[in-house]
Amino acid sequence: MKIQTNKSLKLYNTFGVNVSAANFIEVKSDQDIQQAIQLNHQPIFVLGGGSNLLLTKDPKGLVIKNSIAGRKVVRSFKQSHYVKVGGGENWHDLVVWTLKKGLYGLENLSLIPGTVGAAPVQNIGAYGVELEQVFHKLQAIHLETGKRKTFFKKDCQFGYRNSIFKNELRNQYIITNVWFKLSTIKKVNIRYGAIQDTLMKMKIKNPTPKHISNAVIQIRQSKLPDPAKLGNSGSFFKNPEVSKKKFNKLKKQFPNIKFYPLDNGKVKIPAAWLIEQCGWKGKRVGNTGTYQHHALIIVNHGKASGKEIMSCAKQIQKAVKKKFGVLIEPEIRVDFL
Ligand SMILES: Cc1cc2nc3c(=O)[nH]c(=O)nc-3n(C[C@H](O)[C@H](O)[C@H](O)COP(=O)(O)OP(=O)(O)OC[C@H]3O[C@@H](n4cnc5c(N)ncnc54)[C@H](O)[C@@H]3O)c2cc1C
Repeated sequence: MKIQTNKSLKLYNTFGVNVSAANFIEVKSDQDIQQAIQLNHQPIFVLGGGSNLLLTKDPKGLVIKNSIAGRKVVRSFKQSHYVKVGGGENWHDLVVWTLKKGLYGLENLSLIPGTVGAAPVQNIGAYGVELEQVFHKLQAIHLETGKRKTFFKKDCQFGYRNSIFKNELRNQYIITNVWFKLSTIKKVNIRYGAIQDTLMKMKIKNPTPKHISNAVIQIRQSKLPDPAKLGNSGSFFKNPEVSKKKFNKLKKQFPNIKFYPLDNGKVKIPAAWLIEQCGWKGKRVGNTGTYQHHALIIVNHGKASGKEIMSCAKQIQKAVKKKFGVLIEPEIRVDFL
């Protein structure tokens, strides 16, 4: 384990922002983490694949890059298997591996960038499935005391792109291993309209989980910018949830408003629609702006700094607030370390 100083993080975040970490260490085991903590460089910031964050300043203290590897089936039952996965494993590689093993449940989450250890942090979700549906437990190490702790589903306080690790326990733990409960039964989730349309185009009538994975990959590749070609962190903002009363008022003013009623009585409005209505789809401001095919994705056209990207996000937020009176909040982690 080698400590590097003044390390550029340009290649370690999908926005491609060039900030420099005062101290940087790649960890491959729990022992590495214990040693890193003992170096006493505070604050410690845990980095996975850098696909859900915007770095606006040079991180001081210590950046720990999680590269803990390992995937194995640890318990098997007739209809389900428990799988233990190292936090540094690539998420999509895990999805591919599980499908090859005949284990199902992750297929709708195909091609989400990033690491397994970061997946519970925001309870990743896509195409009708969220991580919590297949999550069993995780192990994490406290970044000050070095103590190991197990968190079961109820401890994680999962919500829409949310968990305890984004709130109360923000920056306090590094997630080292995650356990999933996966099914051996080929049951598929095709509730999401785009999946049904893609399967139709693929002429698949009785889809298997592998077909779902292929369909999701096709949709994502056609819709989302590849961070290797155009810096971005996926959806920048969460879809806002408003009260029924507020929604009814908006509907009167904007009869074409897009929305999804929620079980809790609130109404979810697609942030992309709100942003688009404010004229921000595909708009460029200097080195940044939104993606031409998806208003929710802020992109780095090459040389944008984190601050520039943040300023663009704030302008979008302000425009939406002014037109609709709705606050859109970042889904991604914005750091001012
Ligand atoms: C093109 C694109 C598409 C995307 N699509 C989706 C999508 O469909 N659904 C979705 O939910 N997300 C999506 N994302 C966001 C992102 O891929 C996920 O949030 C992913 O889980 C982030 O993983 P990461 O390893 O890159 O985390 P990072 O960006 O490195 O870290 C994100 C946060 O988690 C913390 N963290 C990272 N690893 C750990 C750990 N081991 N322990 C504790 N804290 C940790 C970091 O400190 C940071 O606060 C997309 C991103 C891109 C670029």
